[in-house]
Amino acid sequence: MNQHSRFNLPLCLVVEEGVFTRTDEVLKRYLPEIEGKKSLVITEKFLHDLYGDIVSEIQKDHNGAEVFEVVTADFDEAVTIAKKICIEDIKVVIGFGGGRVLDVAKYAAYVSKAVYICLPTNLSNDSLASPFSVLGTEGSSRKTLACKIPTAIIVDTDMIQKAPQSQTLGGIGDTIGKYTAVYDWMMASEAEGKPVDDFAYSIAWMCYDSIAHFDEKNITSVAFLRTLARALVMGGLAMEIAGSSRPCSGSEHLFCHAIEEYYPQIKISHGMAVALGSVGAANFQGRDDMKMLEVCRAYGLDIDPASYGIDKDLFYEIWSRAASTRPNRVTILNNTELNREWLDEIYDRMQNNK
Ligand SMILES: [Zn+2]
Repeated sequence: MNQHSRFNLPLCLVVEEGVFTRTDEVLKRYLPEIEGKKSLVITEKFLHDLYGDIVSEIQKDHNGAEVFEVVTADFDEAVTIAKKICIEDIKVVIGFGGGRVLDVAKYAAYVSKAVYICLPTNLSNDSLASPFSVLGTEGSSRKTLACKIPTAIIVDTDMIQKAPQSQTLGGIGDTIGKYTAVYDWMMASEAEGKPVDDFAYSIAWMCYDSIAHFDEKNITSVAFLRTLARALVMGGLAMEIAGSSRPCSGSEHLFCHAIEEYYPQIKISHGMAVALGSVGAANFQGRDDMKMLEVCRAYGLDIDPASYGIDKDLFYEIWSRAASTRPNRVTILNNTELNREWLDEIYDRMQNNK
């Protein structure tokens, strides 16, 4: 068996306007075997209240599926849902929501061996199609758990247009982070003597290119949202092919993890933290950060650390602790002598990128 026959690809990736009102028709084409099977919609109260009509439509289209509203969205809750799925002979899990909801739905479906259909309500990061779920375990600890990518991914551009723009900007941030992630991956592979998977590497680069070089920087146009949705999904496939998150996650993500794990008081989305991290990472990698700064400017990504309450002291602290969040992950940080003056300069460049 060659290595590439081992990975899972979704059977369906549909990005269309208004498609959430006809998910049954779409799935009938790709997955006729799930027709008539008992289904469960997993969402959260906030979204259920906000999009009650659409949720009812989805329930109706899937044999009167029950709705489960996640509360804690952690490991325990995912396992509780998995138990319900097994005991009640539910065969299809439909995740309707953003990162938190989708991570729980993905893991519950994986544990219970149900078919997992992913209906994202925003495009805030690339976890929607990744073969991992990040779930809370004890206290503020979180763990990245291996699972399966969705069997079907259906994106309704009407829905994404209604989502707060900050979420779409996050998705752009997570995607441009691949510029530094692929570099770190290549560098680590040389250091560790493990070759990178060329296809996963190329796909991750293409994700970055598709967003960085998209002509029209209008983040609400259907054409752009379709491109972003594809870039996020392809990021997930790159991880699946590589068998790790390496093609999509390097030192820029370590910066983001340091914020998430050590400074939870900082209010910044995953994707924006990645965008901030990418500028520093590009500098450590000895690359021109102008490209990165330009893309952020063109899309209106605010990468001024001060906008998130990060001053120069904190910026230095976050970078100093970044490598410790994943000690086994080799990145440019292993070869970087961080110094205050340099980081202050990077900070100023980010602050003036308006
Ligand atoms: Zn990410």
